[in-house]
Order: sequence, then structure tokens, then C-alpha cells
Amino acid sequence: MQTIIISIGDELIGGASVDTNSAYLSARLAERGIVAVRHVTVGDDANRITQAIIGAAAEAELVIITGGLGPTLDDLTRRALADAMGVELIEDAHSAKRIKAFFDRIGRTMKPSNLTQAMIPAGAEAMDNDCGTAPGIAARLGRVDVFALPGPPNEMTEMFERQVAPRLGVAGALARRVLHAFGTGESDIGERIADLMARDANPKVGTTAKGGIISIRIVATGQTPADTDAAAENTANEIRHRLGELIFGQDEQTLASVVGDALKDCGMTLATAESCTGGMIGQMMTETPGASEYFLGGIVAYANSAKTATLNVPAEVIESHGAVSEQVADTMARGVREKFGADFALSVTGIAGPDGGSDDKPVGLVYIALSGPSSSKVHRHIFSGARDIIRRRAALTTINHLRLALTESEGRASKNKSHQPSS
Ligand code: AMP
Ligand code: MG
Repeated sequence: MQTIIISIGDELIGGASVDTNSAYLSARLAERGIVAVRHVTVGDDANRITQAIIGAAAEAELVIITGGLGPTLDDLTRRALADAMGVELIEDAHSAKRIKAFFDRIGRTMKPSNLTQAMIPAGAEAMDNDCGTAPGIAARLGRVDVFALPGPPNEMTEMFERQVAPRLGVAGALARRVLHAFGTGESDIGERIADLMARDANPKVGTTAKGGIISIRIVATGQTPADTDAAAENTANEIRHRLGELIFGQDEQTLASVVGDALKDCGMTLATAESCTGGMIGQMMTETPGASEYFLGGIVAYANSAKTATLNVPAEVIESHGAVSEQVADTMARGVREKFGADFALSVTGIAGPDGGSDDKPVGLVYIALSGPSSSKVHRHIFSGARDIIRRRAALTTINHLRLALTESEGRASKNKSHQPSS
């Protein structure tokens, strides 16, 4: 099925934002065996959008549009699509009700302009937006399916996955797995699974690196769901086997959610003391709803004085070893563990740069301490890259140390289970 993706917005053609929606859609369509033959980008101009839609519908069998569904005057996709279809815009009562309910829920008065979002071309179908106000539109233009999705990437992906993908179907059956790895580079992973990544292989295996996490996508296609699922699972198992503890999770899991689940499983709690990461670990740990069950809290102790005042790191220790040192990391972790009464504590202190490095303590040097019920350990890392990359790597690596410690103790526990009574 040939597809054309149209992205709409002055900010895209003006260079102020990059069109990531088309890339996302192309990749997801390709996994279903649907080929995007063209990406078209159009500014906020109703006539040009109409022409783009008509042109695309003449060339392809499927047209997906993103953007221009907002409530403002520059949001013209609805109008342009109605013109391309040669029909009027009419209010969709269900969408109007949902938009009103949305504003009631957030306690804000709805502007009349918001109701323009409930206008859709006659004969088209509105698609609910669970992340925002603008409904999407599913329409037919002759024999061509046309879907219009909101521009904000989170709304677009949600609507595509929930409402468009199920309508597209696939030729035959398709099974997907996404495994996530942390702790090595994409090229290393690529080498270890190179034979599985042959371009004509089925299942098809590909990798993407984003913010230090390497994701390995596995897509199997075949005749029956049972066969394809088994093929995807076999390949996933082979990759898990080869990469071992580098693989931390799959699909929607994050390092923080995996650690959260492991803590929950053993009824343990965590507290954090952060210097160079400035709260990023706390932020990551609290992304998962319900995290209060295991994440008690954290302290951002950025200045030396704060390390002493809030975490009881003796000024002399900072004075003699430096704020970025094994000793300070260790004392921070012990201090926050005691303060919160947590089972585990993580701390991080480092030089994120660009300034502040020296020969023996270069930019990127980070000490990470993990203090637990039975022992404490400090890890020394040197990360490369710009300040934001160093900080993010440090935060993820800190969480990963706890993951590895928890899986290790879990392994020990199950090994000992058969011949040791628990105390
Ligand atoms: P709109 O639905 O046109 O009002 O778009 C709202 C916002 O979504 C824009 O300001 C962009 O930040 C974002 N956006 C729109 N189209 C795209 C796209 N193709 N890729 C990435 N972001 C987009
Ligand atoms: Mg726009």
C-alpha cells in the first residue's frame, strides 16, 4: 500500500521545528509492510494544503496528515480537507461534548475557538484525542483513506497507535518486540547481533540509540499470528541471551520503571542525593505513576554547603577530598539513606562541565554511590560529551547500578532458596 505523509505548519517549512512526525509514521508503517513513497511539508495555507491532499490522493492509496488541527486561525487542515473532499464542515456533537468536558475537567472556561476543533468534513469520522482537545479525522477521498492527526508528537503517536494502526491492518500477520539495552554503544550491540540484522531477514531486527538507551526492534511477518509471534519471541530470546544484563526491559519499560518494579517486588525503598544531576534521577524515578510505594524522595545538594547541611557530609571531607570524590559520594548516599530511612540510597557527584575540570579530575568524572542494607559501593565513571549528555548519562548510569545490584541479589536469592532458610 503506497502512502504519502503530509506534515503541516509554518514552523516546519520555516525551519523553527523539525518534522519528526513523518519519520515516526514512516517507520511504523514500514513495520507493517506499508511503504511511504513521499513526505510532503506544507505551510499554514489552506489552498496549498488542499492541493497537497488532492495530489497525494491521486498518487497514493493512503494519506496521513499531521498538524493544523489546533484552535487558532493558522490551523487550517479541517477546512483544507473539507475543500479537497468538496464538502462542508459540520460540528461533530460527540467531539464538541468531549472538548467541553475537557475544559470542565481542568477548570478553565472554554473559548468559542476551541469548538472549531469539533468541526469535521461532512461524511468524515472524528477520532477521539485522549491527550489533548483536537480530535483527529478519518475520511475517504474517492478510494483513498485519509487520516488527519494532531501535530503535537505525543498526541499524534497516541492517536496513530490507538486509532489509525488498527484500521490499517497488515498483509498477513505481524509481531513486534522492542528490547531496551543500557551500558554499551549501538555499534557494540550491532556487532553482537549483526547476523540477526541482515536487511532481508525475517524477523527484521534494527537498532536505534536515543539518550544513551539502545532500543532493538524486532518485527516478524508471516501467515499466522501464532507463527509470527513465536518467531519474534525466538529472536528476542536469542538477543536477550547474547546481550545478557545489558538488556534491561522491553516495550514501554524504562530503566526507572524496571528498578521501581524490582524494588516493589522485594518491598524495598529508595532515596537519592544528587549533585551534578540536579534532580534528574528523582525526576526519572517519579515518571512512573505509583512510585511513592518505593521512592521516598531525594535531595538535590548542589553547593558544598548544602551537602554538609542536608546530608551531613563533613566539611573536612569535602575540603580534603574535593566535592567530586569517592568519599563525598559515599557519605552523601549514607546520609540520605539515614535521613529518609530508606533501604537503598543512590548518590551522584561529578563534573558536568564545560568548566571545572582538571588533569586528575576531568570534565565527565562522576562518582556514583549505592548504599544498601548490607553494603555500600562507589563507582567511578568518566562520561564524554556535552554537559547535558554527561548529566543524563550519569543519571541513567546511577539508576542502572541499582538495577544491576537488585538483579544480582535476586539471582543470589533464588540460588540460595533451595538450601537456605530465609532469616
Ligand atoms: P498544530 O497541530 O499544527 O497546532 O501543531 C502543534 C505543535 O505540534 C507545533 O507547534 C509543533 O511543535 C508540533 N508539531 C506539529 N507538526 C509537527 C511535526 N510534523 N513534527 C514534529 N512536531 C510537530
Ligand atoms: Mg500548526
